[in-house]
Amino acid sequence: LNKPKIVVLGAGYAGLTTTKRLMQKLSPEQAEIVLVNKHNYHYESTWLHEVAAGTINPNQARVIISDVINPNKVKLVVDAVTKIDKDNQRVILENSELDYDYLVVALGFESNDFGIKGMAEHAFAIEDIDSSRVISEHIEYQFAKYNSGESVDEHSLNILVGGAGFTGIELVGELAERVPQLCKKYDIDRNKVRIINVEAAPSILPMFDKELVEYAKKSLENRGVEIKIGAPISECTEEGFIVGEDNELIKAGTIIWTGGVKGSSVLGKSGFELTKGKVNVDSDLRMSGEENIFVIGDCSWVWDHNADRPYPPTAQLAMQEADVVAANLVALLNNEPLTDFVFKSKGTVASLGHSDGIANVFNDNKLKGKAAAAMKKVVDNRSLYLIGGPKLVLKKGKFRPF
Ligand code: FAD
Ligand code: NAD
Repeated sequence: LNKPKIVVLGAGYAGLTTTKRLMQKLSPEQAEIVLVNKHNYHYESTWLHEVAAGTINPNQARVIISDVINPNKVKLVVDAVTKIDKDNQRVILENSELDYDYLVVALGFESNDFGIKGMAEHAFAIEDIDSSRVISEHIEYQFAKYNSGESVDEHSLNILVGGAGFTGIELVGELAERVPQLCKKYDIDRNKVRIINVEAAPSILPMFDKELVEYAKKSLENRGVEIKIGAPISECTEEGFIVGEDNELIKAGTIIWTGGVKGSSVLGKSGFELTKGKVNVDSDLRMSGEENIFVIGDCSWVWDHNADRPYPPTAQLAMQEADVVAANLVALLNNEPLTDFVFKSKGTVASLGHSDGIANVFNDNKLKGKAAAAMKKVVDNRSLYLIGGPKLVLKKGKFRPF
């Protein structure tokens, strides 16, 4: 008898958690499970700002997939998905093709520059390990070059970050720690380096209340970060950002765009109907109108009926969706009714470097400073625990004292 074949695309928070749950719920006799990922490793996307700033080693943020899945239960295919052909129930990979009975699309996010002129050509973006590592290497190269006798531009040490949402703020928090280390290493006066964060909205991190936002702003400014709010970036050139009504050019040797994300470009290439770069899914997390395709994590919008808008895309959301998708796949195999997804927020934490942060946790409890930073480490270590148990926490966990 032919076993049903479940194919999971992407081994991020959404795809890897789905696979782990399916491994627990299904025996190899009940279904064939295939996991497809571009690399042989999973990475903690929520740590990528640290990789980009150079405050952690990239290897700490990645986990070899075959160390955390059971090869007797899951077949791992290391290849890049180029297109999903849903009419023929096939997935086209760079080097082969796969068919499926059930599909879970969990290919994650890509940077969204909203078509801002020059952004794709001249700015770095944080998307995965490789794109983040290149940022830290580029920054270090600017410092290494500065006193080397090579001719350097007077703005070459400046670091410009576009967008002060979570990613932008967490990145400048790390840079505020990395820059003094680089100054020491390369004998450069700290005053020669500017870290500038440019935001279009009238506030940074609008999801936090005023007191926490004010705390975050002061903490960063005290450590030499310049924050420009109400300053929309209209263009990116080789030299920097063009900002605000008077078209001011802010120059820097390192330009990074953290102004937003969208779902994987594979969605569009597959002809899926998209809203702001993502697929709308029904309450059971299936693509509208499709019996056998689930789309989760940063590739989909799930409607929050209480707030009357989609849930913001987070790792927390992706992992909770994965639990429901695995349960719904088992229900489909057993001809049982599917469950609707309901998000249970555990709160929100934003780091401001290694030992500072702000947080809203456990029914609106506000934390700041070391307490929030400690909470963030707990969240990061818990994520490792869910993927690889205590062994992985001991190997890759965050235990550096404050
Ligand atoms: P991803 O984590 O992006 O995983 C996608 C996977 O698919 C990857 O393994 C990738 O290699 C693979 N893949 C991509 N394209 C292909 C392809 N074509 N073929 C094969 N494989 C492919 N959220 C929080 O809740 N808390 C936080 O503290 C937090 N911090 C963040 C910090 C940063 C710097 C960033 C950028 C995001 C942060 N987020 C945070 C958001 C969170 O990281 C995302 O919501 C989450 O990663 C989404 O999970 P995912 O599984 O959908 O996608
Ligand atoms: P975002 O969309 O949340 O923030 C982007 C910021 O860039 C916004 O403040 C926006 O106003 C600004 N911006 C956009 N266009 C601009 C322009 N032309 N000029 C100047 N500023 C501009 O994106 P993000 O920060 O990458 O976050 C993506 C998702 O990941 C969010 O859902 C977020 O909640 C999640 N995330 C969570 C955490 C955390 O929980 N600690 C950390 C990082 C990311």
